[in-house]
Amino acid sequence: MIYLDNAATTKPHPACVEAMRQALTEHWGNPSALYRFGIDAARQLRTARQSVAQALGAPTECVYFTACGTESDNWAIFSSAERLGKRGKHIITSAVEHSAVRKPMKKLEEQGFEVTYLMPDAKGRITVEALQNALRKDTILVSIMMVNNESGAVMPIEKMAKLTHSVCPNALFHTDAVQGFFKVPFRASTLGADMISVSGHKVHASKGVGALYVRSGLKLPPYLIGGGQEGGLRSGTEGLPQIMGFAAACEALLSERMANITRQNELKTMLQEGLRCIDGVKLLGAQEAPHIVNLAVRGLRSQGLLNALQDREICVSAGSACSKGHRSHVLQAMGVDPELIDGSIRVSLSSETTKEEIETFLAAMPEVIASLK
Ligand code: PLP
Repeated sequence: MIYLDNAATTKPHPACVEAMRQALTEHWGNPSALYRFGIDAARQLRTARQSVAQALGAPTECVYFTACGTESDNWAIFSSAERLGKRGKHIITSAVEHSAVRKPMKKLEEQGFEVTYLMPDAKGRITVEALQNALRKDTILVSIMMVNNESGAVMPIEKMAKLTHSVCPNALFHTDAVQGFFKVPFRASTLGADMISVSGHKVHASKGVGALYVRSGLKLPPYLIGGGQEGGLRSGTEGLPQIMGFAAACEALLSERMANITRQNELKTMLQEGLRCIDGVKLLGAQEAPHIVNLAVRGLRSQGLLNALQDREICVSAGSACSKGHRSHVLQAMGVDPELIDGSIRVSLSSETTKEEIETFLAAMPEVIASLK
């Protein structure tokens, strides 16, 4: 099988699998328990937090484990609104966010908040100027994603966070970095964002774990209340197997981060150049991130392309795997012709993708197109 849907999920790294095995067989105590076995689990949790924090470029105490990127986004958005809702009711986000941000925003609108949705350019980029024009005295929160999961556009988060804090010193800046973590080099401690969401299964860890970075000194209201885990902010017995697996994946990938980015960029360029030579193929979006290439074939439907590729043991996704058959709101916001949207597929790479796999995909595409036409 040739797996080219790494923006949807990635294969767990062998180090992650081994760490999870150890967690399930040797460190399965409750980290809150006060006997040696529990204290050992707490020690494993502390070490794991250090590893994820190191990968994020953040102080260890700023990293909170969650169950997924979606939870991190929900927590950041709802808690910011709860904390600052008395100061103002204006929130800024973009029209191309993942549903994990879009839907909480819709919910806040129902509760009386006013949300401004910044529109992207034709490539899917959100500009600093667009944010500048939207910031107001009563803006309390800005949430802009680091990398768009469909267009591969990389947003200027550092500049946006700086601008937000200079124009609105009391506003909070959140970025959904689920597609940016290990793909776009950043350090949480210098990025300037108050909150950063990441997810384990996008970076060769397992499903069921994510993290929220919360800037030192920022007091967010708790998201889950109960036993007081995660500094009292996110109660619930910690999912140590997933957390240890996440940490192991981060450790394994960290030393190779820049080499992996370079390699994926080379493969992406090869993929783009190959696709440009195939009749009828149109590349969509900025495709600045090293791992995302979106394309459409006029006159063909995504599902047909997907099935024909699947028959050749090649997995890609129809636009965003999370959009579940709906016409992509991202491509719509970019003003892409609806016929092209209906024929769009996303090819996404990882550190495991090989040159041979890209060659096989490129060789299959003209055959697939011919067979469908
Ligand atoms: N944000 C972005 C940009 C994503 O691409 C995804 C998943 O595709 C999420 C958030 C949700 O992450 P998770 O699947 O960990 O909930």
